[in-house]
Amino acid sequence: MFISQVSHCNPNSALNAKLLMRFTAKPLRSVMNRTFVLAASVVLLLAAFPGQSIAQDSRAAEPRKGDQILLLGTHGGPGLETDRSEPASLLIVDGRPYLIDCGIGTMRRLLRAGIRSDSIGTIFLTHDHPDHALGLVDVMSNDFLSVDFGARGPRPAFRVYGPPQTQELVQAAYNFIRIPYGIFAAEHLGVATLVDPFEAHDIAHDGVIFQDDKIRVIAPENTHYQLMPAKFRARMKSYAYRFETPYGVIVFTGDTGPSDAVVRLAKGADVLVSEMEDLRGRENGARPQTEAGREASERAKALEAHMRLEHLTTEEVGKMATKAQVKTVVLYHLVLSGRTKNFVSGVQEFYSGPVFAGEDLARYCLGAPGGDGNGSHALQPCQ
Ligand SMILES: [Zn+2]
Ligand SMILES: [Zn+2]
Repeated sequence: MFISQVSHCNPNSALNAKLLMRFTAKPLRSVMNRTFVLAASVVLLLAAFPGQSIAQDSRAAEPRKGDQILLLGTHGGPGLETDRSEPASLLIVDGRPYLIDCGIGTMRRLLRAGIRSDSIGTIFLTHDHPDHALGLVDVMSNDFLSVDFGARGPRPAFRVYGPPQTQELVQAAYNFIRIPYGIFAAEHLGVATLVDPFEAHDIAHDGVIFQDDKIRVIAPENTHYQLMPAKFRARMKSYAYRFETPYGVIVFTGDTGPSDAVVRLAKGADVLVSEMEDLRGRENGARPQTEAGREASERAKALEAHMRLEHLTTEEVGKMATKAQVKTVVLYHLVLSGRTKNFVSGVQEFYSGPVFAGEDLARYCLGAPGGDGNGSHALQPCQ
């Protein structure tokens, strides 16, 4: 695995060139044999994994100009639900997808949306709580499948940017998936020598953490871990992300409590994609029900403080959006999804702009005036 610490823009790497050299350095006959085996494997693969061919077909759609936000998972917190997947969002700029967070279920939602996971070259993790990170291994596994069976030419590199421990997380995920793929290798079904195509980048400092020809990304730490004992804070961080694109600025709060840093980051943004975890009205909050005694009571207190100070209510989202003067708010990371109308009206008590409460697979477009997309400079559901 290629790893680095990010303290400045580092979007390109020599990994592709290195892998290409490794591939082309083989004798021609060996390459041809390998090509035949790969081609046969692709046929087997497509027969064995029909979902892959569905994803490939639907990917053929023309990329359109402009920004698109595709909410893959909108459920907040660990614990799985049938209607909403764990947090994950795609920002698609002129057809190029960037994935923000990767909760459990992300891979299934990508399939449903018709997006190939291996078309995503860059993933940003806001933080490593289970609901935001545990789906990464599925996405990496599917990426590796395409490398193992079908990729032609230079092998793709998949970059993951995130807080400290991202390198550790990606390495652990690769160590996990290489065991099953090692069996394909032993059976001569996949590539004989597994080569790790994943790059992990720990974000070491607030500031610009990524830039390419489509986007510039700025990340400050937010307040999601403010109650965490200091000794853990150096290696456990939670970030918000500001994406500057040719068509507008989109800010993802990540999970956070009220935060001046996030308000500054979102100043004048076209879209604030905001977390919300408002448990008011939920019976017994999120307290563990089965334990008794002092430890249970301490955990319940810690959980109550976490929900109150390290997540956002409707009122807090509305106030932050007004302070930052953002043009639109998209809510996600929701619990009790039956209350989404209340969530929208709750935010609008404190914020006068448009508010959307996202469902899984909802798409919102931000087009260039006179361009494709919706031809509108204001965010609206895609047509
Ligand atoms: Zn969360
Ligand atoms: Zn969290």
